[in-house]
Amino acid sequence: TATVPLDRLVSWLGGYRDAVIEQRAYLTELDSAIGDADHGANMARGMTAVMDKLGAGVPATADELFKSVGMTLVTSVGGASGPLYGTFFLRMGMSAGAIAEFDGAALAAALRAGLDGIVARGKAEAGDKTMFDALAPGLGAFDAALAEGASPAEAAAAAATAAEAGRDATKPWVARKGRASYLGERSAGHLDPGAASSALLLRCLADALGS
Ligand code: ADP
Ligand code: MG
Ligand code: MG
Repeated sequence: TATVPLDRLVSWLGGYRDAVIEQRAYLTELDSAIGDADHGANMARGMTAVMDKLGAGVPATADELFKSVGMTLVTSVGGASGPLYGTFFLRMGMSAGAIAEFDGAALAAALRAGLDGIVARGKAEAGDKTMFDALAPGLGAFDAALAEGASPAEAAAAAATAAEAGRDATKPWVARKGRASYLGERSAGHLDPGAASSALLLRCLADALGS
């Protein structure tokens, strides 16, 4: 279908909560190689807090929904990823405004605004070995699919596949942002944890829109 009602995006967030809980040990293992071994715990704690808050009542419009998600992540997750993912969702909400249903273009614009927020906050560039390196190709594929007439679900599936390739490409790189950059050359040979969690975010979007 051509439109995405807000409850699909709530399903996305719930699916992501379940996925980061399921992959908590894996995400932490990635972060133990090139960071401080807390990325799985950070994401699981943050998304659990997000869904607990939504359990008390889901806002009716995208701006309020994603503001709640972003604020909860900023306040419940410390370190780099809390403010970065928090900003992603806050900017998504600001881009979307008070809508209850997205078309493909509005969803693409919101996701793009989220990524722009991550860049504004963390200054990551392509090849720095961060979540940017999964999200940027993912959203590029989302846009390209829409331009070819794909549905939001098809675009999200293309985005997830491109993000997973972006995640995998981070493995040989030397990190230039975040804790992993402190390791210099020793950061090479490991996937970036944030690239893994953000490829998962887009895979969960594809799953939520495709089911
Ligand atoms: P911390 O490093 O504070 O322990 P996490 O382990 O939760 O936080 O998250 C680490 C991830 O955050 C990294 O794998 C990377 O993808 C991402 N990251 C770190 N710094 C930046 C940045 N400046 N811009 C974009 N992403 C970043
Ligand atoms: Mg960490
Ligand atoms: Mg930490």
